[in-house]
Amino acid sequence: MPIYDFITELLELEDIILKDFSFTDTEIHLSFSLKRKPTVCPCCGFITEQVHDYRPSTIKDLPVMGKQLLLHYNKRRYHCPSCNKHFYEPFHLLPKYCRITTRLAFYSLHMLKNRYSVRNAATFLGISDSTIFRRLKDVRYPKPDRLPTVLSIDEFRGNSGGQKFHAILTDAHNHELFDILPTRSQTDLMLYLNTFKNKKEVRYFITDMNRVYKDLAVQYFPNATIVIDKFHVVRYATWALENVRKRVQKQMLPSKRKYFKRSRRLLLSHRENLNEESLLALEVMLSQSNDLAVAYHLKELFFDFMKSPDRTEAGRRLKFFILAAEASNLPEFNACLTMLRNWSKYILNAFDCPYTNGYTEGTNNAIKVIKRNAFGYRNFRNFRNRIFLALT
Ligand SMILES: [Zn+2]
Repeated sequence: MPIYDFITELLELEDIILKDFSFTDTEIHLSFSLKRKPTVCPCCGFITEQVHDYRPSTIKDLPVMGKQLLLHYNKRRYHCPSCNKHFYEPFHLLPKYCRITTRLAFYSLHMLKNRYSVRNAATFLGISDSTIFRRLKDVRYPKPDRLPTVLSIDEFRGNSGGQKFHAILTDAHNHELFDILPTRSQTDLMLYLNTFKNKKEVRYFITDMNRVYKDLAVQYFPNATIVIDKFHVVRYATWALENVRKRVQKQMLPSKRKYFKRSRRLLLSHRENLNEESLLALEVMLSQSNDLAVAYHLKELFFDFMKSPDRTEAGRRLKFFILAAEASNLPEFNACLTMLRNWSKYILNAFDCPYTNGYTEGTNNAIKVIKRNAFGYRNFRNFRNRIFLALT
């Protein structure tokens, strides 16, 4: 096989007529032309083979063996005798007005999909960040047609498109990203959800303690069980305990204070995770303050409640916790009690719901990585595309 044929086949450039090639330490240069052939005029449909002129152009292609591949070619312009217009010959590897091949553009998006940052992909491929961003803008992830049966909502700080927070919707049953919305405002969410015709098919709506989301669910999803994910609940008890520790600690001598601060892990850990030595140290800590001992006991009760095997038992343990927390008269537990009074109905739903916000939380973490690698996406569409590319 002649060497030129071999090269074009290897590089999957079979349609070209290779005229020359050369290489340096960092670059491979190929010069080629395309076969002159009867071509349809895009203006009038006439078939012509008349050449008007040639324009030299250099195109970047996918790197080969770590070297930049540059294609040099005299772009032919045909003349149409029927309408007198001139037009470039079509070349499947090269979209209109582009200086990089289609496959290079696709590969850049493929790299983003594999969690490369735009910067890293651009450096690796020898193209600019803005070239990738332009391609990203052309990607389309249309709004879905139907809501999933298990819809989970959360928000994340995005700072894109002039909005601080964006809403993220996921399908918690299939563990799939459902959509990313530019804002989390009630009006925008209403406008968005309103367009779906299958709102009655949503069986579970999983959210954090956000009144806007809850009200939306009540209004739009008549058949859905609203569930507050346990993940968002459990920290109220640890916050309360932490605040009691801080108050108690303030009244101590500096050396003891330091010890307490260092040992707060003992207070916050699940009791069953502590070894004998830690348990002894914990007992010493608790013996220093009655308030702290009570707060600790309440936290343990709360953890017990969170671990309830079913809804009935959870209801029983919750009642018990509320009575104990009220009787303790510890002001640090007021926020926790208020939260429970407002939300207990939906929190209890979590105990017989097989779904959690776990997937959404995981997605949020992945988004954080994308944001870190991207110096912020000012354009929301790009940002949304970027997330969909990486996560779907
Ligand atoms: Zn024509």
